[in-house]
Amino acid sequence: MNDLATLGQRIRHFRTGAGLTLDQLGERVGIAGSQLSLMENGRREPRLTLLSAIAEATGVHLADLLDSAPPTKRAALEIELDRAQKSSLYASLGLPVIRASKALADETLEAVVGLHQELARRAREAIATPEEARRANTELRLHMRTLDNYLPEIDDIAEKILSDIGHTTGALTHREVSLIAERLGFELVHVGDLPHSARSVTDLENGRVYLPPASIPGGHGLRGMALQALGHRVLGHEHPATYADFLQQRLEINYFAAAVLMPRRQSVEFLQQAKADRNIAVEDFRDAFGVTHEAAALRFTNLATAHLDLEVHFLRVSDDGAVSKAYENDGLRLPVDATGSTEGQFVCRHWSARTAFTRTNRTTEFYQYTDTPEGTFFDSTQTGTTSAEEFSITIGVPFAHSKWFRGRETQNRTKSTCPDENCCRRPSPDLSSRWAGKAWSSAKLHAHILSPLPSGTFPGVDDRELYEFLQSHATPAD
Ligand SMILES: [Zn+2]
Repeated sequence: MNDLATLGQRIRHFRTGAGLTLDQLGERVGIAGSQLSLMENGRREPRLTLLSAIAEATGVHLADLLDSAPPTKRAALEIELDRAQKSSLYASLGLPVIRASKALADETLEAVVGLHQELARRAREAIATPEEARRANTELRLHMRTLDNYLPEIDDIAEKILSDIGHTTGALTHREVSLIAERLGFELVHVGDLPHSARSVTDLENGRVYLPPASIPGGHGLRGMALQALGHRVLGHEHPATYADFLQQRLEINYFAAAVLMPRRQSVEFLQQAKADRNIAVEDFRDAFGVTHEAAALRFTNLATAHLDLEVHFLRVSDDGAVSKAYENDGLRLPVDATGSTEGQFVCRHWSARTAFTRTNRTTEFYQYTDTPEGTFFDSTQTGTTSAEEFSITIGVPFAHSKWFRGRETQNRTKSTCPDENCCRRPSPDLSSRWAGKAWSSAKLHAHILSPLPSGTFPGVDDRELYEFLQSHATPAD
């Protein structure tokens, strides 16, 4: 369509240059002037024989007509205006379409086209491309590394809230989470019709937090989801202005929920005792606080460096070896792409995060030492399953710290030289010569957390679905 627009502009340019009206040129090439007008407006495609006739009648070469450049600056602007007004973005505004007739001054046309270009640029910026999202995520990971993944001010807030409801020890009950909500002025309501794009919805006017009726298998428990929703309020979040803001807020609500479910004082006491016993195990920490293995492992990274003097790494890896979450402050060399992003990159197949999948008995954690160019690491890995995939959760430390952990006497030991391709990425020479050029495969598409989010008041959430949901649940008096 754009090519037709340029072609039409070039026909018009050479026709008027030759001093011919539409009807005059039409007569010479044997078509009606109205037909020619449609072609000049890019709405009909001329045949090549007709183009040859037009070239001859206007005294130019056929190649001049077929050139892909707009003939003049004005023509380029008209083509751009036409394109911009046909976009879904412009159509969504419900504004009239203007025609670039001669009456439209060059200046006006230039201004309108400039505004269209800026509008499109801002729309692209708002949704964040996957690349921008990955950069923002990487920056956040590196920033958290400088903080040892510890946010003491959020822990302070969580401790205050827990002391307000009189929680002193043990796993936090659902009843206690309701009490926390109540003190913040909210009622927790479980519904089966949440907008598909939302994890929770908060009705600020009526003081309600809507949550799904049941925990997502392998995902966040109900207590965690309720606390994350409340976290936005407790931490005073405003509408995220950028994708980086959105990621920062998500990190903070996850941290807040973890800090309430695994309170700092009790967690540190528990883990310090385990360290004194030389028996640190994420599975015990998990069971003591009634959370998922992933939540316990992540919480361990919050407290390990600041309170246990341990540098650590955390990995969540899919069964195909791709990283879905990672953190380190112990020098483990995470696989990264050119932008420094680790999500979606494959970890070494000799790492515990992957060798653990090959076990048949997966009821307990799997232990392994891995020699790498950055030193030897001790890892403890638990595998799990969601409806979509198998995954592994790994907590690891440098060799010197392994003495504090359960499983340190393991005989499992591997050697990894990744990112050296000879480590585990390159097939053996005989297999290469056997299969090179004789195979084909399609990649599995990762439903990736960092795909661009549809724009809206809340990134990734469908406004219309959200407001219709709120309306349908508001009491008649609202
Ligand atoms: Zn490797």
